[in-house]
Amino acid sequence: MNFEDQKYRIQGIPLTEIANTFGTPLYVYDGQKILDKVALLKQAFSKVNLKIKYATKALSNINILKLMKKAGTGVDAVSIEEVKLCLHAGFEPHEIMYTPNSVSFAEIQLAVEMGVMINIDNIPMLEHFGTFYGNSVPVCIRLNPHILAGGNAKISVGHIDSKFGISILQLKHVLKVVQAYDLNVIGLHVHTGSDILDATVFLKGAEILFDAAREFKGLKFLDFGGGFKVAYKPGDVATDILDVGDKVSEAFNKFCKEYGSELEIWFEPGKFLVSEAGLLLVQVNVVKSTPASTFVGVNSGLNHLIRPMMYDAYHDVVNISKVDGPERVYTIVGYICETDTIAADRKLKEVQEGDILAIKNAGAYGFSMSSNYNSRLRPAEILVLNGQPHLIREREEFEDVLRHQIDLDL
Ligand SMILES: *Cc1c(COP(=O)(O)O)cnc(C)c1O
Repeated sequence: MNFEDQKYRIQGIPLTEIANTFGTPLYVYDGQKILDKVALLKQAFSKVNLKIKYATKALSNINILKLMKKAGTGVDAVSIEEVKLCLHAGFEPHEIMYTPNSVSFAEIQLAVEMGVMINIDNIPMLEHFGTFYGNSVPVCIRLNPHILAGGNAKISVGHIDSKFGISILQLKHVLKVVQAYDLNVIGLHVHTGSDILDATVFLKGAEILFDAAREFKGLKFLDFGGGFKVAYKPGDVATDILDVGDKVSEAFNKFCKEYGSELEIWFEPGKFLVSEAGLLLVQVNVVKSTPASTFVGVNSGLNHLIRPMMYDAYHDVVNISKVDGPERVYTIVGYICETDTIAADRKLKEVQEGDILAIKNAGAYGFSMSSNYNSRLRPAEILVLNGQPHLIREREEFEDVLRHQIDLDL
């Protein structure tokens, strides 16, 4: 087996074999890679009392959630449906952090009844919460530290004009509400956005959070959110997690000493844990030359992986059907009837109809953002564990597109 051949396997199983067995388009996740990432994060924060709250929205298949549970993580849920999924997957309510934005108070009440940790991100909800529960239900407050971070405007959520969190500039107001309702605030939270590269951004966020925390008595944890950067392009630098772990842990321990209590430090990584573990396998329908480009049209598109069109995200693509031979420059496009570029001007081993391409780094915000646009069916999902591929979601059928539609007698 040569190196090239090795590249196109997961836990020893050739990707082409997985594609032949289960068909395409197909999401494939390497369970071992996910476990390795959890272990790496634990190693990076071994000197503090770390709690990982996996961001469910990145990849929400219940088997991925079960794998996280087995690896010892908790979860962060951003909708009541995600809370229900996490409960279904076996998480205890106390392991679930509920971090909603712009939801009704009724949904927050539902989450309280389910017994999960509530993270409140605006002052009116904090007041409702106080009116209903006083100090009888512990609560976490989401602050917005106004740190500019995140690779794309759509995923940068900590800036001054962001809808997320309660502005750190409103801290005095928050404290008045907390005092007036005698709220039992046990956690403070910041999540500044995706694609945070280095320790300095985290440390900046940490300092702001520490300053705020000094104003609260009885805190049990500080939650730094998610957003560790993952390398997508060749030459991309990923977050040096061991470096971030070292520096943030040192600052955190120093703060705990001064605060007079051993707080837990929480992180809510999504991308970091699951992005690199996932591939989207697609099949080539057509190779079409135009005056400017050679297009490779595949049996998938922005309905299955929206990141390239939505965030200008770069995903590496390889032709797993061709191990040897010459390379050519291609633009890989989907079958959706609008501009649907998956990857532009890439060198791939010469592509022919029927070849299978692997779109890399598709574990996070891939399937979970998929849709039935163009009335297309969503792909199946495979989890590879202990050298075995397991089907964890069936490929949709035409009946699924009709499901919930009501056939009027017109
Ligand atoms: C999306 C989100 C995360 C995860 O972000 P990643 O960039 O995937 O790590 C964590 N916390 C909250 C509140 C989020 O909304």
